[in-house]
Amino acid sequence: MTVKVAINGYGTIGKRVADAVASQDDMEVIGVVKTRPSFEARMALEKGYALYAASKENIDDFKKSKIEVSGTIGDMLDKADIVIDATPGDTGEEYKKLYEKHGLKAIWQGGEDHELTGFSFNSEANYGDALGRQFARVVSCNTTGLVRVLYALDSAYGVKKARVTLMRRAADPGDIKTGPINALVPDPIKLPSHHGPDVNSILPDIDITTMAVKISTTLMHLHGLNIELKKACGEDDIIKMFSARPRIRLVSSKDKIKSTAEAMELAKDMGRPRGDMWENVVWKDSIAFNKGELYFFQAIHQESDVVPENIDAIRALMEMEKDGMRSIKKTNKALGILAPKDTA
Ligand code: NAD
Repeated sequence: MTVKVAINGYGTIGKRVADAVASQDDMEVIGVVKTRPSFEARMALEKGYALYAASKENIDDFKKSKIEVSGTIGDMLDKADIVIDATPGDTGEEYKKLYEKHGLKAIWQGGEDHELTGFSFNSEANYGDALGRQFARVVSCNTTGLVRVLYALDSAYGVKKARVTLMRRAADPGDIKTGPINALVPDPIKLPSHHGPDVNSILPDIDITTMAVKISTTLMHLHGLNIELKKACGEDDIIKMFSARPRIRLVSSKDKIKSTAEAMELAKDMGRPRGDMWENVVWKDSIAFNKGELYFFQAIHQESDVVPENIDAIRALMEMEKDGMRSIKKTNKALGILAPKDTA
């Protein structure tokens, strides 16, 4: 018996989660919701996903565009065991009552507040705490990237304090509306950015402060991290520890990966669907201790790093697998996140 997953919101994140669900052998896509007819709606049908309209009023639009819909969101939810809400930030909240009415479990994304579900998820850090819950929120792309490295460092050496500057891509590649196109925008101007408190929704004991700048690029986010550890260790220890983590990919500038552009090119050359890079890209040769503090750079592919976390969150909420690391391995294997992770 496979778990039936409904996807509400078939955009950047929703369409990727749908394909990731379809690639697993213990879950299936029962349907996807689109608000309006579009090439993405046509592609969903071509991939074999049943398409549902967000509301009755939209059905005529689909008919006029000759795109076949199987009903409205309510019809889809009737058939589902769990729903992935990948609607735009702050929209998902409106659907909570509907999911409750259908007696469904639900997983929201990082655009919603922690308070919506009271539980924020990361596969490595708190899989066990998610078991059997009705609702969870997979934290944002940046927070997922931060939690992966901070959880690893904290488990191995203890994190005394973390200070991070996030250089954020301003828009996704398919977004033609969002700027800036020629500016660096401190956002917010005044400390702290929301990313630090968001990390604390999963790792409450980490002393973290973050500042963020919006950059006119669409490819990836770049993080500059400065961390004080509790236990002494060296650069080689950190490299060894990161290379053993399931969703960290070490790269090196010596291998001519010196930028987010080349990191994305690597993902394309690896044959990844949509050129996605699900892992944190950590520059091995950026890992350095200076005056006793650890420094490194990592790049985060905002469109895809939360995708494997959504798959693990489904398994945890549905109690399909009690052991988080086994779920992570299963998800990684089906997606193709395989060794060697160290391309450096
Ligand atoms: P998106 O705009 O690319 O996609 C959202 C989809 O939801 C679109 O297809 C839109 O038509 C549809 N939609 C809009 N209103 C709807 C409604 N009322 N009912 C059903 N569907 C509706 O957005 P996205 O980037 O995929 O973001 C989705 C969520 O994932 C947000 O919470 C966001 O913060 C989070 N997230 C985004 C990124 C990213 O970089 N894109 C990364 C991590 C998390």
